[in-house]
Formats: sequence, structure tokens, C-alpha cells
Amino acid sequence: MTCVLHRNVSVTPPSIVSAKGVWVTDRDGKTYLDAVSGGAAVSCIGHQDPRVTDAIREQLDKVSYVHSSFFTTNPAEELAEQLIRQAPKGLSRVLFCSGGSEAVEAALKLVRQTWVERGEPQRTRIISRRQSYHGATLGALSVGGNLARSEIYKPMLFEGHWIEPCYSYRLQQDGESLEEYGLRAANLLEEALLELGPETVGAFIMEPVVGATLGCAPAAPGYLRRIREICDQYGVLLVFDEIMCGMGRTGTLYACEEDGVVPDLLTTAKGLGGGFQPIGAVLVGDRILQDLYAGSGALKHGFTYMAHPVACAGALAVQKVIHEDRLLEKVQARGAQFIQSLREEFAEHPHVGDIRGKGLFVGIELVADRSAKTPFDPGLNLNATVKRLTLEEGLMTYPGGGTIDGRRGDHVVFSPAYTVTEPEITEIVSRFSKGLNRALETINQI
Ligand code: PMP
Repeated sequence: MTCVLHRNVSVTPPSIVSAKGVWVTDRDGKTYLDAVSGGAAVSCIGHQDPRVTDAIREQLDKVSYVHSSFFTTNPAEELAEQLIRQAPKGLSRVLFCSGGSEAVEAALKLVRQTWVERGEPQRTRIISRRQSYHGATLGALSVGGNLARSEIYKPMLFEGHWIEPCYSYRLQQDGESLEEYGLRAANLLEEALLELGPETVGAFIMEPVVGATLGCAPAAPGYLRRIREICDQYGVLLVFDEIMCGMGRTGTLYACEEDGVVPDLLTTAKGLGGGFQPIGAVLVGDRILQDLYAGSGALKHGFTYMAHPVACAGALAVQKVIHEDRLLEKVQARGAQFIQSLREEFAEHPHVGDIRGKGLFVGIELVADRSAKTPFDPGLNLNATVKRLTLEEGLMTYPGGGTIDGRRGDHVVFSPAYTVTEPEITEIVSRFSKGLNRALETINQI
């Protein structure tokens, strides 16, 4: 293998030669049912929709590239308008980039520039949450709370500040309602602000539904609203990272819509281009736009491939498919079916501790002891075995694990395309059940 892939460079993964809908085929003719939209909640309308590939080809025939400091283009403007038309009120401009980490990096720099323009340059701190992942670049890693991912880069990162995530399965207390827990979890932000000095904090960044690092843990009812209140009270900017949970994945186009909470900045990526093109975006709120441009009058940030015309044309076509095919309705219906099927399949399973999520963003947490919620010994590396054996069963899943103050919850993320059918959901649950039980047998747990 000459192409360097991350993770284990000594193992050559299957080489994929074709893909259609929720199925991908490797060089040996083996097919895999894709329960994770290409592997990481990306291919949200399924693989190879000709409406998108045609739009990309047409754009390539017109103009493939111009630098955004000289020109804008039709696809960039149309896509920005479409995103803003459907966005929570208060978000009014879009900055495009090539992926999730770039979007977070841009958002962090917009936060910095806003505070400089506002005459409060001492607001340099960013608060985020433990166990969070916001990207692989150094700025995004600095705010990320998944220390396993950032550990070796620590000397190169800026100082981070973290509060506990909203993670009801493990952190809600006995006798506490979900709403009470949500309020208590959100109030941790106020405590952190008071400790650091609110006048030193520029922003708080969080995922409304935590994907890769906590296995689809949604915010408790009222949590986002209270977070917004606290940010307003102390003048702190609120950034929602919807790179994984946005663009329809949870059943609404923007995950924060359901709670009616509008951030100052919103990052999105994966489902934006649906895997047809690499693209990310930051949606920018009115509240900071004026200040941002009032001072120097120019954005002090830029990438060569910002608003790439072909990427924008591809993403625009993906967004049109979501709209025309009424895919959000399908996400809601299939998501409910998926969670119900998993709950039926694993109702008595001793090692399935929690089944959670929103829309087609569904997570399972695996535990050694279901009633005590005891996590598996991290040394068993269960999530890697689940990934390998479910793949052998012809199913793509996204297992992960992470420590919460020394505790580990192995989990599995499912994020199939919005086009997934009822029989395909049934097949996902059946293949997963087989793969999971084989993995548990392998580590001698059943
Ligand atoms: N934020 C979140 C919430 C993510 O899930 C990811 C990717 N898993 C990123 C940021 C980084 O995106 P990318 O890998 O496209 O740079």
C-alpha cells in the first residue's frame, strides 16, 4: 500500500471500486451495507446520485476554479443563499472552506477577530467540553476535549478549558429529571466562566448532538437554551459545531433548530457535500457580522479553495436532493424505526447499555455490566474488534471509545444515508447483532 492512510499503516484495507445507494463493493466483489454514510456520516443522500454527479460535471465544463479574493460564482452564491434561507434566523452569511477542521479553524479565527474589532482583545480563551472532537488541525485540536487525540501535540497547542459534556447516560444523577440534569450540566459553563473571569473568554464551542466521541449523545431538554442564556449574560460567543450532526442528520436541517437556539457561529461539513465534494462552511450571525467588518473592513483569514465552484455546485445539488426528495421526513421516520428495532433486538442484551440518538444519528453504548453501567476494560479494545467483525459481516459501522475521567464507554455510531429503506434498516440491525456477538465472543465476554 503506497497511499498513506491514517490509523494502521501496516494493514491494507479493502479497496472500494464502486458504490450505489447504501451499498459499496470492493475489488474482490464483496459488498458492504453502509450504515455510516461512507464511514463518518458523510454520504447523506447515498452514493452516486446522478443529479449530483451531473451538476458537478456541468460546473467543471463552465469554470472549475477562481480565487475568492477576485470573484464570486453562481454556485457559491446560490448555495450560500440556500443555506441561509433554511438556517435559524440570525445567521446571515456563509464562509466556505474544504472540510470540518477548516470550518472550526475559521470559526475560531472569526471569534478572535470579532473581539479585536470590538476592542476586547483580552477575550482570548475558548471553553469547550471534555471528550469533544472539533477537528485535526492545531487550533481545532486545542479546543478538542478528547485528550487521547491531542496528547502528542500538546506542546504545539494553545491552552484549552473544558466543562463536562451533557451526557445523561453517565452523568445524570439518581432522582434527577432529564430537564434538571440539562440545567445543571449547562450551569457548569457559568461556573467555568466565573472561575476564569468572563471578560477573558471569547467563545464556547460544542456539538448539539455529540457524534464520534460520545456515540450520538444528544443535549438534554433545555440544555442549549440555558447555554445560550449564559453566553448572552457574559457576552461570550456561542459556536455550534454541526459538522457531523447537521445538514438533516438529526431530522431537522440544523440540529439546533429543534431547541430554537441560534448560535453566533455554526460550522457544518460532512452532509453539506454528501461526500461528492470536500466542502465545509461557517454560518455567521448578524450579531457579530457588523462588528467583524466595522473595524478593518476585511476578513483576516482565507484559504485558497474557499468557495470552490465545483465543490459548491456539488453541495448545492446535494441540498436540492434533500429538499426535493423530502429526505428530512424520511430521516425522522427511518430514525424512529431504527431506534425501535435496536431496542427490540437488544432488549435483554447484557452488554448493550444504552441506545440513543436523534434522526439517523444513532449510538449504542457497550458495557461490561448493564445494571452497573461498568465500561469494558479499555485494554480489550472492544470497539476495534466490533469494527473488524461487523465489516466481516458485510456491514460498515463506526465504533469508538473514549475516557470520561478515567471511565470508558465503548460505543458504536450509526449514520446511514437518509435514503436508507425499511428492509435495509432491518438488515443493518441483523448484521450488527451478529458482528457484535462475534466481537464479544472474541474478547470472551459471552
Ligand atoms: N467536528 C466534528 C464534530 C467532527 O465530527 C469532525 C470530523 N469527524 C470534525 C469537526 C473535523 O472534520 P474534518 O475531518 O472534515 O476535518
